[in-house]
Amino acid sequence: MVEDRSPKPIHCKAAVCRAAGEPLTIEDIVVDPPKAYEIRIRVICTSLCHTDVTFWKAKVAPVFPRILGHEAYGVVESVGENVEGFAAGDTVVPTFLGQCDHCGSCTSEHSNVCDSVPFIIGPGMRRDGTTRFWDAQGNPLHDLLAVSSFSEYTVVDVNQVVKLDPAVPPKLACLLSCGAGTGVGAAWRSAKVEPGSAVAVFGLGSVGLAVVQGAKMCGASKIIGVDLNPDKEEVGKSFGVTDFVNPSQLGNRSVIEVIVEMAGGGVDYSFECIGVPSVMTDAFRCTKMGKGKTIMLGLGRDSDQVCLPSLELLFGRCVMGSLFGGIKPKTDIPILAKKCMDKELQLDALVTHELGLQEINTAFDLLLQGKCLRCIIWMDKDK
Ligand code: NAD
Ligand code: ZN
Repeated sequence: MVEDRSPKPIHCKAAVCRAAGEPLTIEDIVVDPPKAYEIRIRVICTSLCHTDVTFWKAKVAPVFPRILGHEAYGVVESVGENVEGFAAGDTVVPTFLGQCDHCGSCTSEHSNVCDSVPFIIGPGMRRDGTTRFWDAQGNPLHDLLAVSSFSEYTVVDVNQVVKLDPAVPPKLACLLSCGAGTGVGAAWRSAKVEPGSAVAVFGLGSVGLAVVQGAKMCGASKIIGVDLNPDKEEVGKSFGVTDFVNPSQLGNRSVIEVIVEMAGGGVDYSFECIGVPSVMTDAFRCTKMGKGKTIMLGLGRDSDQVCLPSLELLFGRCVMGSLFGGIKPKTDIPILAKKCMDKELQLDALVTHELGLQEINTAFDLLLQGKCLRCIIWMDKDK
C-alpha cells in the first residue's frame, strides 16, 4: 500500500482574541493542511505591531474570535498543490501584502499592491475567503490579513511568503516582515527621499524609527522627530533624529509653526506613523509649499476622514498613502535584510523586549503603555 504523505491537520497552540479589547487566551487549535497555492509555516517568532492593537480594539473589520499577528519569521512545514519555489525547511517570512510578479502592479515600478490576489482588510484567505483555523470545539477562528502569526502554525498564500537566506537573523527577518520594512520602505520606495532633504516623522514607534533610519540611509540632512512621549527624544536621536519636537510642550505655538521654522519654510517630506487624522493634517501642513510630499502610514478607524486645506494642497504639495512603505515584499525584503547585515541600516535596537507565547498579553500592555518598541514573541520560549 502507498503511504499517504499529504499534509494532515496540525494540533497546536495559538493566542486567540475572543472579544474586542479582552486579553488573548492561549488555546489548543487545529490548523488545516495548505490548499492549492498555500504554504503551512511553523512560526518561530512573531512580534506585536500597532496594527494588531487596532484590530484587537475592533477599530477596523471587527470579527471575532480571531487569531491576530502579522509580523513573523518561520520555517515551511508543508506546501499545497501548485506551489513552486518553496519546500519544507525553507526559512521564510509571511507578509500581509502579496507579490505575484506577473500582474500589472507587480510589473510596474509605481505600485506594490498586487492585482492577482488582491489585498483585503477583512478576514479570509484571499483566493477562497475561507479560514484554516478551528478551535477545540471545531468552531472556525478568523484570520488577520491572511497571516495570523500568533499561532505555532499558520497557513499563508504563496504570494504572501518571502524566502530568506537562513543566515538572516530571525528577529531581523521578523521586524522586516511588517513594521521595519514599512518604515524604511516609506522613505526609500514611497517618498524616494533625496540627499540633503529635511524630513519630519510623526510618531516614533517602530514604524517611525524605521522611517528615520530609511531617511538617513537616503541621505536626509535634517530629520525632525515628533512624539508626545518625552522618552522618544533620546531613542529617536539614537536612530538618527536630529531635532525632536514634543507637541505638548510648545506653549502657544503650533507644531506646524515650529517645524516650518526649523526647516526654513517647511520640510521636503513628512511621514504620519500614528493613525490620527489631526496629526495627518499637521504632517501635511508642515511640508514645503511647491514641493512637499506627505506619506500617510498610520492606520486609523475605518470611519476616519482627513482634512486637507484645499488651497494649501493646490500650492504644489502632494499627499500619498502607503501600504508596506511601497516595498514589493519578495524583491525588497531580501535587499533590506542585506543592508541591515551590512550595517547600512541599524534596526536591532527596535527589539526592546522578548517574551514567550504564554506571556503575549504583556506585550500588549507594554506597547499600549509606550514602554516598548518591538516585543519579539518566541513560540518555543516556554518549552
Ligand atoms: P507604536 O504604538 O509603536 O508607535 C506610535 C507612536 O506614536 C508612539 O511613540 C506614540 O507615543 C506616538 N503618538 C501617539 N499619539 C501621538 C500624537 N497624537 N502625537 C505625536 N505622537 C503620538 O506604533 P507602530 O507599531 O510604530 O505603528 C505606527 C502606525 O503605523 C500604526 O497606526 C500602525 O497601524 C501603522 N502601520 C501601518 C503600516 C502600513 O502598511 N501603512 C504597516 C505597519 C504599521
Ligand atoms: Zn504591521
